[in-house]
Amino acid sequence: MRFDGKVAIVTGGARGMGASHVRKLAAEGAQVVIGDLLEEEGKGLAEELPAARFHHLDVTSEHSWSSIVRETEDVFGAVDILINNAGIVHFGGVEALSPEHFRRMIDVNLMGAFLGMHVVLPGMRSRGRGSVVNISSAAGLTGFSGGIGYVASKWGVRGMTKAAALDMSGTGVRVNSVHPGVIRTPMGSSASPELFARQPIPRIGEPEEVSRMVLFLASDDASYTTGGEFLIDGGQTV
Ligand code: NAD
Repeated sequence: MRFDGKVAIVTGGARGMGASHVRKLAAEGAQVVIGDLLEEEGKGLAEELPAARFHHLDVTSEHSWSSIVRETEDVFGAVDILINNAGIVHFGGVEALSPEHFRRMIDVNLMGAFLGMHVVLPGMRSRGRGSVVNISSAAGLTGFSGGIGYVASKWGVRGMTKAAALDMSGTGVRVNSVHPGVIRTPMGSSASPELFARQPIPRIGEPEEVSRMVLFLASDDASYTTGGEFLIDGGQTV
């Protein structure tokens, strides 16, 4: 199988798109650590899958990152794949959004992904292999009214991905970003159907459709791909 012998960490893996990535990686042979704040959902998912474990992770904490990487290495071995998927959204325009909510989105969505790469990439560099997939958004390529903090954080993830890909030049480590449109998850299901009714593919996306893209980038199938941005949005941004 594509991920036989590979070790992956998926942040925000307890539910939504992250849980879909976890299931698909495990189904293709990977040993997966689910890093999330949601203990009950995360442990429940890990129990369903023979080669998965839950680890309580707060992506905004450097200490929490060191702890998940240490436990992953102890239990499964060195990390081959990091999926930086954890994310939050608070809506509000430039005048309405509270500075606290703006700061929190930067902290979880942007700083969280930075800390993950900061802790995991040195090991990948030393082993000469690894793949990081950072989950941005279609909102990391455009703007939308009422999304100022989320848009800022997701453009940051997109830019940071390119900088990290360049930092990893010649090392055998690849870093890419994925940009989903509206996807059927606890976060995406609140979106108005009008949003996707105008798309060339006029429906909401399914988590598994995003997982196929994420797993491609995580795998050796994407061996000539780094610093790239991969839209999966039903044509929302065309
Ligand atoms: P979701 O809300 O269903 O899941 C997000 C997960 O992240 C949850 O399990 C949550 O507990 C976890 N999380 C939040 N803060 C965390 C923290 N500090 N530390 C660790 N885990 C934390 O959302 P989703 O729709 O599955 O979103 C997954 C990713 O995709 C997010 O980055 C989101 O911004 C992005 N995205 C979602 C959509 C969509 O329509 N659903 C569209 C574009 C991008």
